[in-house]
Amino acid sequence: MNYFSSDFKLGILGGGQLGKMLLYNTRKFDIYTCVLEASNEAPCKTACDEFHLGDLMDYDAVYNFGKQVDVLTIEIENVNVDALEALEKEGIKVYPQSETLRTIQNKAKQKLFYVDNELPTAPFSRFAYLSEIEDAINNGGLELPFVWKAAQFGYDGNGVKVVRQLSDLEHLPKGECIAEELVPFKNELAVIVARNASGDTKTFPVVEMEFHPEANQVEYVICPARISTEVANKAREIALNVSKAFNHVGLLAVEMFQTKDDDILINEVAPRPHNSGHQTIEASYTSQFEQHLRAILDLPLGRTDSKVGGVMVNLVGAEGHTGNVVYQNIENIMTMDGVTPHIYGKKQTRPFRKMGHVTIVNEDLNEARRVAEEVKKSIKVISE
Ligand code: ADP
Repeated sequence: MNYFSSDFKLGILGGGQLGKMLLYNTRKFDIYTCVLEASNEAPCKTACDEFHLGDLMDYDAVYNFGKQVDVLTIEIENVNVDALEALEKEGIKVYPQSETLRTIQNKAKQKLFYVDNELPTAPFSRFAYLSEIEDAINNGGLELPFVWKAAQFGYDGNGVKVVRQLSDLEHLPKGECIAEELVPFKNELAVIVARNASGDTKTFPVVEMEFHPEANQVEYVICPARISTEVANKAREIALNVSKAFNHVGLLAVEMFQTKDDDILINEVAPRPHNSGHQTIEASYTSQFEQHLRAILDLPLGRTDSKVGGVMVNLVGAEGHTGNVVYQNIENIMTMDGVTPHIYGKKQTRPFRKMGHVTIVNEDLNEARRVAEEVKKSIKVISE
């Protein structure tokens, strides 16, 4: 099929920053795009060819949108999968496939998938209701501490809580959840695997993720991860095995824990461009966004090695600030070598909302990490 400067239409479900960065690449290739999104103020609005307003969880909205495009992809997992399945049956190419999304949307299902496919992950128990966790603790069937995770609709750490005592269960959502063993990890790692429709695969280098202790959000992504070659090879191999098991098309970001004994445990996956791959825009020969496009259009995959060391800093809304956004000291960080800010285009900030990111590149990764900390201290996302 001719995608370039043609009548071909790519549909994207979701209008957030991941979609916006994907759209830089559809512009580069002159591919026509349609975006479905519920908010009229979404980052994708000014970057796509057609912007459609609609609820991503609504069957009709997703189905009717999907009927108008040739290939349909996502930039967020919480979409109506029944509609995607119907579209697939009618010949629309949906990548990632509805089956992959159905497994991933529910954390309990996702964990069972790893068990069924003999992929390493932390032990867990599944509960239909939160109250069953309480019963299990009281009758000795579940030991503290553990990590509670909502089975569905958690995002950026808000569906996750370390439970050390019974009272930690108060105020948690009441529905389906899992209790997972608390992993005393050394590092959180991620590998992005690209797989095109012909089945060719490539992995990006292993990255290291440093998390904000309170918000449970990624604060720094460091590429390549400062780990031994053995551990890096193991992480890449496991990520490839996960990719093979899903048989997905497009990107698959595999988040993993490196344990104290250098074992690798799969935490979770996302079948789309991911926060752990933003540094590829400046630091890699092929960005994750270009690679996702290449994969879902069944084009040859691009080189995945890095040109230079890269560190990514998330720009999230400062605590105590809600309202029209101001990026304080942005000029300051732009005087620093190898520093590129990305502003997502959300007009309103609120505490911990992802508003942008900054990439720092340097031949010397430790220097990049040092500058990243300076960037983090200098720039503030506040309200007017
Ligand atoms: P989300 O889907 O919201 O990103 P994750 O399942 O990735 O949630 O969990 C968010 C963070 O919580 C992880 O990156 C990690 O820091 C911590 N975490 C999750 N599961 C465990 C675990 N089993 N043991 C220790 N920490 C965990």
